[in-house]
Amino acid sequence: MSDRNRVTTRYISTRGGDAGAGFDQALLNGLAGDGGLYVPETWPDLPEDLLNTERTTSYAEISGQILKAFAGDALPEHALTNAAEKAAASFSHPAVTPLKQIGDGLWLLELFHGPTMAFKDCAMQLMARLTQSALERSGERLLLITATSGDTGAAAVNAFAGADHIDIVVLHPKGRVSPVQRRQMTTVDAQNVLNLAVRGDFDDCQLMVKALLSDDRLRAQRRVSSVNSINWGRLAGQIPYYIVACRALGGRARFVVPTGNFGDAFAGWVARRLGVGVAGLTAAVNTNDALVRALDEGVYAREKAVATASVSMDVQAPSNFERLVFEASGRKADTTAHFFADFAATGRAEIAPDLQAALRREVTAQAVTEDETALEMARVRLETGEYICPHTAVGVSVARRLPDDGAPRVVLATAHAAKFPDAVEAAVGRRPPRPKAIAALEDKPERAIEIDPTVNAARSVIMDMVALA
Ligand SMILES: *Cc1c(COP(=O)(O)O)cnc(C)c1O
Repeated sequence: MSDRNRVTTRYISTRGGDAGAGFDQALLNGLAGDGGLYVPETWPDLPEDLLNTERTTSYAEISGQILKAFAGDALPEHALTNAAEKAAASFSHPAVTPLKQIGDGLWLLELFHGPTMAFKDCAMQLMARLTQSALERSGERLLLITATSGDTGAAAVNAFAGADHIDIVVLHPKGRVSPVQRRQMTTVDAQNVLNLAVRGDFDDCQLMVKALLSDDRLRAQRRVSSVNSINWGRLAGQIPYYIVACRALGGRARFVVPTGNFGDAFAGWVARRLGVGVAGLTAAVNTNDALVRALDEGVYAREKAVATASVSMDVQAPSNFERLVFEASGRKADTTAHFFADFAATGRAEIAPDLQAALRREVTAQAVTEDETALEMARVRLETGEYICPHTAVGVSVARRLPDDGAPRVVLATAHAAKFPDAVEAAVGRRPPRPKAIAALEDKPERAIEIDPTVNAARSVIMDMVALA
């Protein structure tokens, strides 16, 4: 990596309105000032060593190198190295994200050995440390507000509990997250964590968060931000495992990514852009298939979200799609801004034929039905003895449809089966064994405040928390 890149990594908005934020600002802001998403102004060079399969390199080392490439001089080097090491050490597997073969040329990349057993830990454990480091520089205290359908909230609460300079508020739809996911959030006993159980659905929670993030009364008290999947810090934390997998499989692999907001899949796109041997990239979605319709039919249109077994993928307007449109259009901010303004106004945007063709050169997407998801959980259990979660099953089902071109096919295993025992039991006929960490949650007291799905209700409890800190 040249010194030039270390110094000049700047972030621009996909909508053209933000000029050159540093990595620390991109991290603290989340969303760019014009409502667009941050992307690096230029793509950094990775050290050649990183891609050299002959040399052994630990996950922490790879992750530290990625952070250096993207942060440049915006954060002290020791903070980046420390974040990478501590985050990797929070995982229970020595390889952090091990590969497991489940068929001929077919592999799972297990991303669920972190503290809350979903891939969200990979990035969130880094984010917590990097955000604290960025705040040390600015001396501010940050209020993070995020909505969750389960995994993001659990990973965020675990990572940010007890963090300096930060309070975190997580809104989950009451009764609509799995009991394991709920306990992972509500049994954490830390002053800086507030769980809100909203009497509504996930869409209510998201709308409330959107309003709270721009709420004048909160903003008068605190800098307010979020940790959702559009944050560039989260993307940076999802690149290392693509490198780990390619290195382990001789340098090249074809990836299938269970997809909701397209964050994990876009990280794979970035990995390829940086020179990693990502031979193919396929987003696997459930019946919420806006991405498939966009790529195949040239219309990006929001429909009502359908509840599926792969709950963390029940997303109708994948937020990171904006980054893909920006890149596929040849980084045309005008095109991107118009496209997403149309979509925001009408819930629908036409994709011009040349843009559609460009998008299809970057990624493909395939949808999987609920029956196929259940059959895949049963098949993998029968053939290998392994339990897989419904999200992973969506990916495996798509991987089996891909033509065999000799490249190993890697499915990102995004959560541990034990997080979704009911869905697994319905498909397989048995409940997956429960890891100790999950069993231990049952006896702990839970803390959450139940509220109506209104901005006023949320603001009032958040203001109480802010007043105490
Ligand atoms: C969040 C999540 C996904 C979807 O990831 P995106 O980055 O939103 O596409 C898939 N599987 C699980 C288990 C998740 O928690």
